[in-house]
Amino acid sequence: IKLSNRFYHGTKEELLEKIKNQLSDFRYKHILGVGQTCYELAKLNGVDPEQAMIAGFVHDYAKEKTDEQFIEKIKEKKLDSDLLNWGNFIWHGVVGAEFIKDELKITDEEILNAVRRHTVGAPEMTTLDQIVYVSDYVEPNRSFPDVEIARSLAYANLKQAVIFETKHTLQFLMSSSSKIYPDAILTYNAFVAEN
Ligand code: GDP
Ligand code: FE
Ligand code: FE
Ligand code: FE
Repeated sequence: IKLSNRFYHGTKEELLEKIKNQLSDFRYKHILGVGQTCYELAKLNGVDPEQAMIAGFVHDYAKEKTDEQFIEKIKEKKLDSDLLNWGNFIWHGVVGAEFIKDELKITDEEILNAVRRHTVGAPEMTTLDQIVYVSDYVEPNRSFPDVEIARSLAYANLKQAVIFETKHTLQFLMSSSSKIYPDAILTYNAFVAEN
């Protein structure tokens, strides 16, 4: 599709070129898959497909920046200093949104929030947030046990796919004794846990 200028001031090719310059080939392929999946899920869920596709393309824009670059940005933007206790997995979304704003000049807060929430979700997620969160998990290049279940759920019922992803991600993290980012628990309580 041809971009409208509502979310990015340039062509799709120009946007992808800037993203490609920041990423390894493997991750560039991933963001193309996420953009495509976001576009399809947006059409199924009444969200602007262009907005969703751009959010998918940029969601991991900052993933390969160095820890030093993230720490500098956290200080420059006076973001919550607790972020300094975590690492790339949380920075590339929450702090990544700041790089997307500053370097790509994308200012749409709905896109930026979807990027911020794409790794651990949030107790309240907009439909766009859910689309990016789920597309990241099920895009065509992903392969892990149960990806096909997650993928068919995504196209059948977005919220059920959020529930499935949240539950399985937490199970995976706990089975490997990983430190859980508190917002991931809030997402779990809001979407998965029963009263
Ligand atoms: P990617 O950027 O496309 O690889 O995918 P994500 O942004 O969804 O996840 C990035 C990494 O963070 C993955 O390896 C996840 O398993 C990991 N991750 C997600 N949530 C948590 C968490 O609460 N704690 C830890 N330690 N890692 C997490
Ligand atoms: Fe990511
Ligand atoms: Fe994810
Ligand atoms: Fe990703």
